[in-house]
Amino acid sequence: TGMITTDKLSKTFSNAGTQQHVLKNLDLEIERGSFTVIMGPSGAGKSTLLYALSGMDRPTLGTVEFDGETISGYSEDKLAKFRRRHCGFMFQQIHLLDSLSVMDNVMAVGLLTGDRRTVKERGDKLFDLVGLSVADRRKFPGMLSGGEAARVALVRGLIAEPGVLFADEPTGQLNSEFSRIVLDLLAAVNATGQTVVMVTHDIRSAAYGSRILYLRDGTIQGELSLADLPQGDA
Ligand code: ADP
Ligand code: ADP
Repeated sequence: TGMITTDKLSKTFSNAGTQQHVLKNLDLEIERGSFTVIMGPSGAGKSTLLYALSGMDRPTLGTVEFDGETISGYSEDKLAKFRRRHCGFMFQQIHLLDSLSVMDNVMAVGLLTGDRRTVKERGDKLFDLVGLSVADRRKFPGMLSGGEAARVALVRGLIAEPGVLFADEPTGQLNSEFSRIVLDLLAAVNATGQTVVMVTHDIRSAAYGSRILYLRDGTIQGELSLADLPQGDA
């Protein structure tokens, strides 16, 4: 059985008096340890789905279960606690705090879930993993390249040892060289057993997934296999 399961998940927005049905009776199962990619055209509802899966937003109808718990019924407070304990996030907009060093940006999130010494040790391991030196950790965000900032965002997303890392267009701002580095890192992190759910509209990024779901018209239209995707340079 899945780690995250949706049952007839629906999300409707009211925009200027009209109802927009963005997700429609969507059934989905995400396996523990998988690298699940949600692909689809712009406006398909990918981010909306990611928000529902990660407890950032609640469905209009239907349910989301996480390890058998129906999180879609949680209060705002309970959802916030759920996110802190179980979810890591990496977004296209990285939003590091400019007044804090790289290390302190990571610590600020880590300390929500652990004591300073434990979190610092975890952070150092993750910084080693993504190839940011001790000198890099002391830098302030304004001194980082886009690729470095993305790596900091990845460390921050993992610092609380989340059950799932949710990545929404994590390479959207990066050139192809940095994109490849970040996607390789996501694959490496997944290879350690970390469950990853990534939203992208880019087919070459999608190729990094172990499972690629295609979202259109508010439902999962099917799965793409790697054979359908262009090979080689991502
Ligand atoms: P994608 O990530 O696939 O590009 P989104 O999930 O961001 O798509 O958006 C899908 C549709 O839902 C868009 O038409 C968008 O305008 C609408 N939408 C998303 N969030 C909101 C919101 N908070 N209020 C109203 N409409 C929204
Ligand atoms: P509070 O409950 O005190 O408002 P939040 O949970 O909103 O704290 O977290 C504070 C900041 O840390 C926010 O800017 C949020 O984006 C970030 N944050 C919280 N949890 C995570 C996480 N698991 N991964 C990445 N960033 C996170």
